[in-house]
Amino acid sequence: MPLCKQEHPVKIQELNGKIENLKSCKAIVCDLDGTLYLSGEPVEKSHEFLQKVLESGRQLFYFTNNTSRSRKTYLDKLKKLGFPSDDHFLITAADCAENYLKRNNLFPRIYLVGNRDLYADFERRGFEMVDGKAARHLPFPAAVVLGYDTELTFEKIHICYDLLIQDVPYIATHADKLCPLAGGRFMPDVGSFISMFETATDGKRPVVVGKPHQEAVETIAVKSGCSAGKIAFIGDRLYTDIRMAQKYNMVGVLVLSGETNRKMLLNSPDQPQLVVNSVSDLIDYL
Ligand SMILES: [Mg+2]
Repeated sequence: MPLCKQEHPVKIQELNGKIENLKSCKAIVCDLDGTLYLSGEPVEKSHEFLQKVLESGRQLFYFTNNTSRSRKTYLDKLKKLGFPSDDHFLITAADCAENYLKRNNLFPRIYLVGNRDLYADFERRGFEMVDGKAARHLPFPAAVVLGYDTELTFEKIHICYDLLIQDVPYIATHADKLCPLAGGRFMPDVGSFISMFETATDGKRPVVVGKPHQEAVETIAVKSGCSAGKIAFIGDRLYTDIRMAQKYNMVGVLVLSGETNRKMLLNSPDQPQLVVNSVSDLIDYL
């Protein structure tokens, strides 16, 4: 009897690349929100998928642009979800910011626009956060770092503006416009704040270090020791995850478990090599 397509659905769609490209990867980098969990709940079979990555001998990494929380908070969350939570596995946009700031000698005094949790994170990295009163006086901090500050106040906005018009180097951890919430809702993310400062300062734009930018790629490359073609990036967002993979020749795998649907994919210039409904569909291909 011929095989019925519905009984054996194709789990993986080869769009602009081959499954063999994924199979030859030595490092698997996963976005978190929308890819491994949704509204704080693990995506179906995500544990089995992660286990398979490790059993296959590949390196596993998580990459999140969201800097509203510290590395420590993320590691605690991964552990709570039952995911492998080795410190080495996690890469955040704050790691990329640290690399950029230290390499460019914008260290240790910075003005950080971020939550208290991110302050603690940067303190652990050896940075000295200049407080609001001192920030406006000489010597100015070496850089303004715009993180995902969900505790943002008008005072912080004003100090940030004062420093930007003094041409203090300006770095943003990421530029995502919106952050997904449960039930298909969103809230403004750092990209929206960047637009506000751009308006106020007549056009100042930050160096952005998270996905899909070069510093993120370099951070992954250094941590994994792999060339781009041997790295698979798995994510749910076209203009960050997939754009980075496409631009820097990683194997981009789009999961449809998060914010992107087929219609958005069809209309986007950002194209993955492979498409799956969720990471569970990748288990048989690793
Ligand atoms: Mg995501």
